[in-house]
Amino acid sequence: MKKLMLIALLVSFFGSSAQETLLHCGKIIDTKNGKVLNSKTIVVSGKKIIRVEDGFTNPKAADKVIDLKNKTVMPGLIDMHVHIEGETNPNRYLEAFTLNDADVAFNAAEIAERTLMAGFTTVRDLGGSGVNVALRNAIAKGKIVGPRIFTAEKALGTTGGHADPSNGQKKELMGDPGPKEGVVNGVADAYKAVRQRYKNGADWIKITATGGVLSVAKNGQNPQFTEEEVAAVVQAAKDYGMKVAAHAHGIEGMQRAIRAGVATIEHGSLMDKETAALMKQYGTYLVPTISAGKYVAEKAKIDGYYPAIIVPKALEIGSKIQNMYAMAYKEGVKIAFGTDAGVFPHGENGKEFRYMAEAGMPAMATLQSATITNASILDMENELGQLAAGFIADIVAVNEDPTQKIETMENVVFVMKEGVVYKN
Ligand SMILES: [Zn+2]
Repeated sequence: MKKLMLIALLVSFFGSSAQETLLHCGKIIDTKNGKVLNSKTIVVSGKKIIRVEDGFTNPKAADKVIDLKNKTVMPGLIDMHVHIEGETNPNRYLEAFTLNDADVAFNAAEIAERTLMAGFTTVRDLGGSGVNVALRNAIAKGKIVGPRIFTAEKALGTTGGHADPSNGQKKELMGDPGPKEGVVNGVADAYKAVRQRYKNGADWIKITATGGVLSVAKNGQNPQFTEEEVAAVVQAAKDYGMKVAAHAHGIEGMQRAIRAGVATIEHGSLMDKETAALMKQYGTYLVPTISAGKYVAEKAKIDGYYPAIIVPKALEIGSKIQNMYAMAYKEGVKIAFGTDAGVFPHGENGKEFRYMAEAGMPAMATLQSATITNASILDMENELGQLAAGFIADIVAVNEDPTQKIETMENVVFVMKEGVVYKN
């Protein structure tokens, strides 16, 4: 009797009567081969895709069917550059003085949900206050609805550099932030700052290799780390099993970061052909963030939206990104998909597909950059970015075929993450 019960239990767990979810898909995007395939059934069990079948498979009694016959279905999208803790608004620069961590956390929870509903099931967060680590953990435990997060915790900068947290403040408030706060001056500081990020729970390291547009500082493109400092950051990160993302607008800082071995260059706004060749030589990925460039260039025209010191930087640098990206793609630089959401409203990440396509990248290649390419940069290429057996069931759908109409990526209508449907 006991033996029979055990067999019955095993059958219900593993056998043919286990419940499966069948997604009947009109079209699916085969990201691995760059093809659109017709009439497929994706079979999901638990958190995983267990198989993909031709045609529309009939369900067994216990199975659930999701009808996506009029949709185009693809792997969950990955954005390699977001700031999930906050969002642009004219009072952004006051928020450092008015918001407590708890306020940031509640705002971030809402942003996380919005990001997931836009079809982005995984994001790389490139810098906030540390709330991002708690948010990542809460989402992973299912306490909050949001994308899977890989986070850099707090970005690293140099004194007065783009990620110095007390830029623009009066001297009594400035203090002298150091490695603990993510400010690096010298090789020893670089090691300490990286190790502190590891201790704080970071998955990635982000550095600000050059000046930035939205910091309260004059120069938006000067080199801000020595090459030795970047090399120390990269080596320390490697020791602790992390990779490095480098924010860079100007070419000198960009080249130092590439030679020092960072994995990704963020923005790359003023990149020239020589620097593009260097990126190819080192296999460095460009994360273009065209969306952010367009948004800041537009908002800088509105009086008072940004502090005055930021306006000329936003006008000059923001408008250059899309053309630079067109050049870099043509030159053969490896392209990852990343938007810098937070600099513009979260949830509008999908516009980046159109901007990339406008600049000459085939629509299918834009989809591949946001799936297989990004999965591989995150060392998740066997789990994310494809609709295939054994992969995590992160699945999204749009109304039209994006290879025919890329704007459809701005309206994701179905979202499944780890086998759970969040939007249909
Ligand atoms: Zn950013």
